Amino acid sequence: MAAPIPGPQDASPTTAALNRAVLDALPFGDKQDFEDARQGLLAALPEVEIKNAQGRVVWTLRDYAFLVGEHAPATVNPSLWRLARLNLNHGLFRVTDRIYQIRGFDVSNMTLIEGDHGLIVVDPLMSTEVARAGLELYTQHRGRRPIVAVIYSHSHVDHYGGVRGVVDESDVSAGRVEIWAPDRFMQEVVSENVIAGTAMVRRAQFQFGPTLPKGPRGQVDTGLGKATSRGTVTLIPPTRLVKEPLETHRIDGIEIVFQLTPETEAPAEMHMYHPGLKALNLAENATHNLHNIYPIRGAQARDANAWAKYLNEALDRFGREADVAFAQHHWPVWGNTRVRDFLGKQRDLYKYLHDQTVRLMNHGYKAAEIAERLTLPKSLGATWHVRGYYGTLSHNAKSVYQRYIGWYDANPTNLNPLPPVERGRKYVEYMGGADAVIRRAREDFARGEYRFVAEALSHVVFADPANTEARRLGADALEQLGYAAESATWRNAYLLGALELRQGVPATIARAPVSPDVVRAMSLDLFFDYLGIRINGEKAEGLRIVVNWEFSDLDRRYVVNLENSALTYLADRRSDSADATVTLERAALNRLVLREVAFTDAVERGLVRVEGNAAKVAELFGLLDDFALMFEVLEPRRESRAAPGRPGS
Ligand SMILES: [Zn+2]
Repeated sequence: MAAPIPGPQDASPTTAALNRAVLDALPFGDKQDFEDARQGLLAALPEVEIKNAQGRVVWTLRDYAFLVGEHAPATVNPSLWRLARLNLNHGLFRVTDRIYQIRGFDVSNMTLIEGDHGLIVVDPLMSTEVARAGLELYTQHRGRRPIVAVIYSHSHVDHYGGVRGVVDESDVSAGRVEIWAPDRFMQEVVSENVIAGTAMVRRAQFQFGPTLPKGPRGQVDTGLGKATSRGTVTLIPPTRLVKEPLETHRIDGIEIVFQLTPETEAPAEMHMYHPGLKALNLAENATHNLHNIYPIRGAQARDANAWAKYLNEALDRFGREADVAFAQHHWPVWGNTRVRDFLGKQRDLYKYLHDQTVRLMNHGYKAAEIAERLTLPKSLGATWHVRGYYGTLSHNAKSVYQRYIGWYDANPTNLNPLPPVERGRKYVEYMGGADAVIRRAREDFARGEYRFVAEALSHVVFADPANTEARRLGADALEQLGYAAESATWRNAYLLGALELRQGVPATIARAPVSPDVVRAMSLDLFFDYLGIRINGEKAEGLRIVVNWEFSDLDRRYVVNLENSALTYLADRRSDSADATVTLERAALNRLVLREVAFTDAVERGLVRVEGNAAKVAELFGLLDDFALMFEVLEPRRESRAAPGRPGS
């Protein structure tokens, strides 16, 4: 009989002591945030549970009832526990005259601005069901107003995905609703979701913890909010772009100064100041935590220097008169003095992080050493809104380093080290075998040296993923690291790591990385980039295939060349010596990308016409890999799981 899989353990004495020490180190007597997070509450749902049309729950706060107590259990860092309780606030809130927010209906906030005739929606949450429910709550208490404009503050999905829950595309195309966004919005939305989509979706499970049980030994928060909603993700492309560094517009009687902040929290992002209301919306650049220079789900490293610069400009330009500052996550800050204090500290947080990392880098410290050494200045450390609930000083410092000089630490030993499995085998061999490693690891575990225990046992697991003892002890070590973490994202990553070491990789969780609206918005260039990254280079060995693509409804043509296992393309070109010419409409392409129809079926059904050597086109499609979402992270990649190319897919 197989031994039962152990569940989460209790906090060890070391972890409990670490968490107790947090209580003395931080100003828990300061309750201002709790007041602010509740200020202006007009209405809340008696029970927050939102379902989709099929009756599936896409959002609930019921699972977080365990957060009711003020005192953190030993398995949760008290600083994180405090934030997790603040993020439980939900409902319709008045921010100031004419400005309202829906909070606690998703990881993000929906801001509603009452214009002269209708309503401006800033960031309609992540899915249609929660956006609709939020708007409904507003309507019950403020009356029904037509939506006259939607503003996307930036290019992340929790800020646009629910748009079809609040507006009809027909109203947008008829010009009754304008959709505003920062410059390059669509390019950034589409590229981030498509090219690295599968890897990011899987890695995001470690950041947000959706597959973790919720509870004192599980997920308690994400840092920015409780969780991401799980409803229908949509997108309507913007009709108005803000392109200048500063642009002032009057929308339904509301004056808005847009301040572009590219390459900050998102590559396309903007602040909004409402001079008539003395209200400053900081999008996601100044929230009640240290944000991510690099989210651990994976992304290109962001520019901490630019981030500080735009906050400084916002403080200079709008800080003189703003009476309230708010964002698309967390709760507002009221009063001009507090607004300026908040903005100044947020600015200095990102500037300090950037400058001190680069200073130490130029002194020759390596990324891991900088991360270990960097602490907040004492003048900032006890300020709640700079604590690392989402980003951490540690991984953000590594990301600043990476943005400037990349992953390589310049030690040639690390130029070409063995990959994880081979390295694990050699380490285990040098250390006297798996049993010897585990014996030593148990001693270190008892001393609370969880970081190295996790690392040593990871070598054992990569050498032999069937070593149950190593998996369990490694899981126990990761779990204690999670219990002590102040950052919600680190906690989620450690606890999911522990869960997957104990139970293995769970069965596939169905979630298309790319939503139909995003596919429709893909440029043709991006479509061919996407084909390129799916070409299996080994299978393509020695093949040469040239195909003309004609998009009959767009008057666009492409020539695609496969040679040396690399797929390249040229727009607005045609090859006279191509193997074949494929003619189709854009809508057919969307259906192919969404896998609503296989290529061969599309040909049979006349959606796609192929002239010339059709077998060559089929051969090209046969070289495409599919990506399986639930790949191994804490143990060797099982080759058998690597998806082979499926002809016609
Ligand atoms: Zn967000």
